Amino acid sequence: MPDLPDFLLEPARRVEVIHRTDVLVVGSGPGGLAAALVAARAGARVCLVERFGCFGGNITTVGVEGFAWYRREATVEAGGIGWEFEQRAKAAGAAVPESQSLSYELDSEGFKLVADRLVEEAGLHAMLHRSFVAPVMEGDRIAGIIVESKAGREAILARVVIDATGDADIAHRAGAVTQKTPTEAMQAASVMFHLAGVDKAAFLAEVAADPQTYKDWSTGEWTVQTDGKEDDMFSPFLKKPFAQAIKAGVIPPHLNTIAGTWGALHDTGELTYMNLVHLAGVDGTDPDSMTRGEIEGRKQAMLAIEALRRFMPGCSGARLRNFGMTIGIRDTRKIDAVYNLTEADVRGQARFDDSIGIYPEFIDGYGVLVIPSTGRYMHIPYRAMLPKGVQGLLVTGRAIGGDRIAHAATRNMACCAVAGQGAGVAAALAVRAGAELAAVDIGAVQAELIRQGVRIH
Ligand SMILES: Cc1cc2nc3c(=O)[nH]c(=O)nc-3n(C[C@H](O)[C@H](O)[C@H](O)COP(=O)(O)OP(=O)(O)OC[C@H]3O[C@@H](n4cnc5c(N)ncnc54)[C@H](O)[C@@H]3O)c2cc1C
Repeated sequence: MPDLPDFLLEPARRVEVIHRTDVLVVGSGPGGLAAALVAARAGARVCLVERFGCFGGNITTVGVEGFAWYRREATVEAGGIGWEFEQRAKAAGAAVPESQSLSYELDSEGFKLVADRLVEEAGLHAMLHRSFVAPVMEGDRIAGIIVESKAGREAILARVVIDATGDADIAHRAGAVTQKTPTEAMQAASVMFHLAGVDKAAFLAEVAADPQTYKDWSTGEWTVQTDGKEDDMFSPFLKKPFAQAIKAGVIPPHLNTIAGTWGALHDTGELTYMNLVHLAGVDGTDPDSMTRGEIEGRKQAMLAIEALRRFMPGCSGARLRNFGMTIGIRDTRKIDAVYNLTEADVRGQARFDDSIGIYPEFIDGYGVLVIPSTGRYMHIPYRAMLPKGVQGLLVTGRAIGGDRIAHAATRNMACCAVAGQGAGVAAALAVRAGAELAAVDIGAVQAELIRQGVRIH
């Protein structure tokens, strides 16, 4: 093999423009799916691009089913499209009552169909199986994206682009300022799985006999800081079987990170949304790191299942039903937005003139857990989705601007849907008015959001 340099220069090439639209949404998780649906409902032509074969993001590809597990009697919420996701899933038989809250746990497979229906009803131009790879820039303005797929490299042009990739992929490559949590401080990644063959009655009898609370989330390895009110609340948490498995030599002692929550337990013996594997140091923007995480995560999941089979009543006949389609990533890039949310905002019921929706005081991440059982809530400001340095671009979902503890609130799926709905409506109205995103008539955006059933104050 002749000596090759360490880098190559790709030759310039002709790329066909395959589609033109008003609003282009990239990524179809709770943020992107929400944005695309509501932009269409506000009158825009909308294209939704997704790299995988289904819509729903972490809900459908990772198996994250707990959409609103924080909801208690007094919780105050935005309603809007997030509420619609739950109601549509429930009506379609794709949701069951969630074990710790007044919410519905989404069925990660059933939600694929729910999302398909919503996309069809809204008349979106849907493009699955295409990955964003590069922005199309005119100076500092984004004019579209280049995608790659089995069809090769293609271009899609748009008047406004919404980056809902979760990782701020578009903002990053378009030159907007983003910040990534240092790898060693990132929230753990998880390989999620579902089980079959669980004896429901025996499992629930054990849960009732030895109920766990959020206080139990603090293990030898982790501590979780609560407000105190959470400490006596029931949590569907599993820890003891894994401690027993370590003692019995089934799990090696250094894997005392295996513990966590279960989701729904169906009459048919399926125990889903098993959130038991936590992998530190996995960088969701580095495919080598994710490769190691996928393989190690599957190994740990099988150890967890073996421990459950041996030490958890009702699980002796349990077997793996499926892994999520991909490793679950919680924490990568966030944009440096025109306004970055702060810990003080999420803990202090922040109020903003440019609110596009509210979110209850629910904080879950970086060792903090606050459940919104009090009625406290904050506003989500439109400016947290406006990246600095790039025109024509909004970023929504978990990559909106904010510090660590703000992210522990805004990363939650229902909050991503609130942000997504705000971004979608703002994009549609900016296109209609021929206005810059930074100068969009926020009063008109708020009026449309209210028309769409969102509580903004
Ligand atoms: C294991 C785990 C458990 C969690 N538990 C909960 C929970 O119980 N409750 C809760 O509310 N939240 C939970 N979260 C957090 C929540 O799932 C995410 O923060 C949320 O889904 C983020 O929504 P999003 O729309 O920003 O991004 P995502 O849901 O990540 O969706 C992004 C979409 O963009 C697509 N995409 C990415 N890059 C490209 C590209 N280059 N081209 C095209 N498409 C692309 C992806 O395929 C994906 O469909 C959990 C997260 C994990 C990982």
